[in-house]
Amino acid sequence: MNRDIEVVVQSLARRNIEARYFESLPELEREILKTVPISATVGIGNSQTLKKIAISEKLKARGNVVFDKTVASNKLESGELSKKAILSDWYISGTNALSREGHIVNIDHTGNRVAAMIYGPEKVIVVVGVNKIEDSLSAAIDRAKNKAAILNAKRVGLNPPCVELNKCVDCRSKDRVCNNLVIIEGQVDKERLKVFLVNDNIGF
Ligand code: SF4
Repeated sequence: MNRDIEVVVQSLARRNIEARYFESLPELEREILKTVPISATVGIGNSQTLKKIAISEKLKARGNVVFDKTVASNKLESGELSKKAILSDWYISGTNALSREGHIVNIDHTGNRVAAMIYGPEKVIVVVGVNKIEDSLSAAIDRAKNKAAILNAKRVGLNPPCVELNKCVDCRSKDRVCNNLVIIEGQVDKERLKVFLVNDNIGF
């Protein structure tokens, strides 16, 4: 673990959040499968990292009941899966940026992902690639707005002004993808939320 990662892990510990570091995606995957009980219901937040390790499919295959809206075949089903995910035992999600001071920074279109990260599921795992670590809170918000929001908008086929301009202009577009900017700054229960850092540069 390099010095930067150590700083982040210590910053999160001071916020009552346990952080662990994994050298590779297979290590991350093994630890998620070991940490989440087979008997648990699991909600999945949209995450390129989680997609890459196919965690939703692997949890289902071994017997977990999984609510993952990204596999829904229509909008109605997506909405129902999102609601069930908020009431699940565990929630696993990516995030958009992490500051060295331990701020977990998220933008969200409708808010279902950040809602579950904050309240509902008894346990939460947030997976973060080292590419998302920023020096400060303002740099983390900048990353969320000027990188993640743009790529997310493109991914889901929305067209707020940042897609064209390649920068955030604090729009009021009907296609605004960052209606919710949520910064997790700590936890009451130190057993609730864990951050799993992985030495990989995927996701946005
Ligand atoms: S406020 Fe608008 S322009 Fe800025 S990142 Fe969000 S969607 Fe893009």
